[in-house]
Amino acid sequence: MRWLRFKRGDDPPKWGWISEDGLVGEASAAPFGSYTRQQAQYALDEVQLLAPVVPSKIVCIGRNYVEHAREHNAEVPTVPLMFLKPPSSVIGPNQPIILPPQSQQVEHEAELAVVIGKRGRWIPADEALSYVFGYTVANDVTARDLQRRDGQWTRGKGFDTFCPLGPWIETDLDPADALITCRVNGEVRQSGSTRDMVFSVAQLIAFISSVMTLEPGDVILTGTPAGVGPLNPGDVVSVEIEGIGELLNPVEAEQLPHP
Ligand code: ZN
Repeated sequence: MRWLRFKRGDDPPKWGWISEDGLVGEASAAPFGSYTRQQAQYALDEVQLLAPVVPSKIVCIGRNYVEHAREHNAEVPTVPLMFLKPPSSVIGPNQPIILPPQSQQVEHEAELAVVIGKRGRWIPADEALSYVFGYTVANDVTARDLQRRDGQWTRGKGFDTFCPLGPWIETDLDPADALITCRVNGEVRQSGSTRDMVFSVAQLIAFISSVMTLEPGDVILTGTPAGVGPLNPGDVVSVEIEGIGELLNPVEAEQLPHP
């Protein structure tokens, strides 16, 4: 099933679901606990899609595809390389990625995002997929110049709008072999499969939960295939994952409040 968050006009944000014939219905609460669903009644183009989850944290994995590590002349990690993006970086489908004035090199990173469905610590790898609620599409937008300059990645990965998520959560997906494609203005930049991950989704959940408790709604970004490249004002970037859908975002330069 597909779950989403949406808005109609000035109404408050709502959780919802998508029917077989592509209509949106309201749900009374987040799907991680108890909820009731109403009949699907709105066309997708009648609603504004929001980021499909409000995570308490976004745990990201660096260099989880061999070819991407190679394009940066980086070693392939022997244990998962973990970092965080702040919840304030999340935006939804069609919302603009804002290029901050501190960076001259902002890049896209197309990634499979895992949405956690139940709380866990020290989750064994062979039970890990039962802690997954579903999967969505992410763009781990990165100020590459600041990431290199700082040595650690909080600034380069943490700007507002640097974590587009969406368009919805797909609960029925096999994460072992899903094609990931990133296009900028229609031109293919990244093309890979989750089959080429160094550490699998189950291994990542086991590893991360040995460090921190995973909560319902938390998001794991599982790393990007090769082909990362620049974003410029006026671009439209799309990340598509087979079996989930396509996440589109325009790109704009930041308008400073005090020029
Ligand atoms: Zn990434």
